[in-house]
Amino acid sequence: MKLVLLGPPGAGKGTQAKRLAARYHVPHLSTGDILRSEVKAGSELGRLVEDKMGAGKLIDDETISSVVAGRLAQSDTVNGFILDGYPRTVAQANTLEQRLGSDGLTAVIELSVDEAELFDRIQARATEAGSAGAQARKDDNTAIFRKRLQTFAIETKPLSEFYASRGLLIQIDGRASADEVAAHIADHLPKHG
Ligand code: AMP
Repeated sequence: MKLVLLGPPGAGKGTQAKRLAARYHVPHLSTGDILRSEVKAGSELGRLVEDKMGAGKLIDDETISSVVAGRLAQSDTVNGFILDGYPRTVAQANTLEQRLGSDGLTAVIELSVDEAELFDRIQARATEAGSAGAQARKDDNTAIFRKRLQTFAIETKPLSEFYASRGLLIQIDGRASADEVAAHIADHLPKHG
């Protein structure tokens, strides 16, 4: 089971990716999580990407694609993976396609949620983190979130067409509850990987 989750920030990709990873027994690969842990560890990569992430900008295609290539080379991906947050540009999608070759993706799931709802969700996410005593993500504030949405519209949205033309795109209304969205996704996928 080799899946990509597409959708704007706050659409619920992480939540659904985790469920799919548990269901198909494959790893959940979130490039955002990988990068945040590098920043936290203060690694060279972390220092390289920190400012761009904080500003809601994408890091360059070459850097992120080599991070993903390294992760996909690990043995736990033999039966597949759930990619969350990658690819985010057409260049990244081309790189992934070349890497996977004929044994390509099973499907690409696009979660759509309108902007007003995304703003509500992101505010809720920051409030939840605050009341749990955790620090809210630096890029979960309104100005940066607006920038992330803009970046999504320009750089990432074209991937819907990219994958639709390959017959891989499954579009799901992401406004429902997490359980309902998960059920809609399940309707389109095989019971077992
Ligand atoms: P996310 O948690 O997926 O929203 O990612 C958080 C941030 O990490 C993004 O705003 C980007 O700065 C960076 N990032 C994550 N994935 C990618 C990617 N595929 N290409 C470029 N930048 C990325």
